[in-house]
Amino acid sequence: MYDIIIGLEIHAQLKTKSKMFCRCSNDGENQPPNTTICEICTGQPGTLPVANIKAIEWTALTGIALNCKIANFSKFDRKNYFYPDLPKGYQISQYDLPISYNGFLNINNKRIKVIRIHLEEDTGKLLHPNKKNYSLVDYNRCGTPLMELVTAPDITNAEDAKNFCQEYQKILRYLDVSDANMEKGQMRCEANISVQEKNKWKKINDEIKQIGDYRLNPKVELKNINSFKAMEKAINYEIKRQIKAITNNEKLHQETRGWDNNLGKSYFQRTKESADDYRYFPEPDLPPLDLRDIKKRIKKELPELPEAKLKRFITEYGFNKLDAEILTTDKNLAEYTERVISEFRAWLEAVDGIEGTQEEIWEANQKKIIKIISSWLINKLGGIMKSNNVKIKNLKISPENFAEFLTLLFQNKINNASGIKILEKMLIDGEDPSNILEQGNFEQVKNETILKNAIKKAIADNQKAVEEYKNGKINAIQFLVGQVMKETKGKAEPKTVLELLKKLLQ
Ligand SMILES: [Zn+2]
Repeated sequence: MYDIIIGLEIHAQLKTKSKMFCRCSNDGENQPPNTTICEICTGQPGTLPVANIKAIEWTALTGIALNCKIANFSKFDRKNYFYPDLPKGYQISQYDLPISYNGFLNINNKRIKVIRIHLEEDTGKLLHPNKKNYSLVDYNRCGTPLMELVTAPDITNAEDAKNFCQEYQKILRYLDVSDANMEKGQMRCEANISVQEKNKWKKINDEIKQIGDYRLNPKVELKNINSFKAMEKAINYEIKRQIKAITNNEKLHQETRGWDNNLGKSYFQRTKESADDYRYFPEPDLPPLDLRDIKKRIKKELPELPEAKLKRFITEYGFNKLDAEILTTDKNLAEYTERVISEFRAWLEAVDGIEGTQEEIWEANQKKIIKIISSWLINKLGGIMKSNNVKIKNLKISPENFAEFLTLLFQNKINNASGIKILEKMLIDGEDPSNILEQGNFEQVKNETILKNAIKKAIADNQKAVEEYKNGKINAIQFLVGQVMKETKGKAEPKTVLELLKKLLQ
């Protein structure tokens, strides 16, 4: 009987080399406090800001990726408020003429409107040492370019809100404009949440209005969310809290609440009786922006976006949806995969015993090729990378070497057990797989005489298991397979061993 109404505000730090309005390094997070600052970003009198063109271009690029219109003309405004992390006493932001506006993103087949994406500068950081009666301020972050996205109140549940943020993060990383790491505060998601009785409200120009004499419940702004998981949890908690208050006839307040992830609760931060009066006015020290040329230029720079890449991985290569999602979540992994596929095709054409052109081999074996890639890239290599704490960016295995390795599997030259060992070696020293294969004697034991001898030995040494098998305990044969694998040091193909064993035990 209640509708849930959620709008999002997402701040993302742009990873430009220098700050928004000065030449200071934008790497302050990794430097000692108050070392990447200058007279401009600390607001000394008599200094003049100069806008970072890259940050402006990236805000337009992000807008295009989110189906936004890009303004022909835009400008910066001063947002006045006093707080110790803001040395100028105002923040340069954008008020009525944002760079990008009126876009959307499709999330779970629902269209979520993006009202605007504008550019502003980040503030410094306050630190509150434990049990001390003072606070510390680090101005390194002051003046970092910050892009703020605002959605319409179009979201109706916590999962969609989380998915929106995840998709946005993916896009920012594909565009290479922000690292958008939530834990590091490079991406900060805030949710505006309210709960209204069904059929008692309507949306007019992206605003919630009451129908008749219904009194709208106030919206709550939820902050301090530092992971996607926390986001879903926090929103669900807040929805429950509000519904409970309404059912118990308690008064809800328009307020800002923080999220305490350890306690799993939201807590009161401050009331918001009316809109804050920031006395916005046009920034007199910066000229207005004419974006017409940038707009034309940027449109050509838009790379393939996550959604399109995902679709292409399914239709062009034949990955299933789940695998395609895993492979395209990270742009670097998606690029690696495509290079592996192209190298794999070249390898297959080059090896003896496979006839045809690249195209013909691909046509005839696509399913098998993709299955090997899915299994070995996602599951096996993915697992080995995870346990060795290796990221795709610093992976030593080149796509060419990985494709060569897959070719060995394709030809059944190595079995799974040897494959894992070779892959582990490749990961550590970046060597090519055929070298490792030669040195390490990994080649599959195919010689039937060798296999039969190993099997005969296993039978002779394990009479008890043989008896059990002959008496109908089918599983006992797996033990014997294991013994043969041990004897051949893991180089036999388990399937062949099983077949031979069955034959010999008949
Ligand atoms: Zn500076």
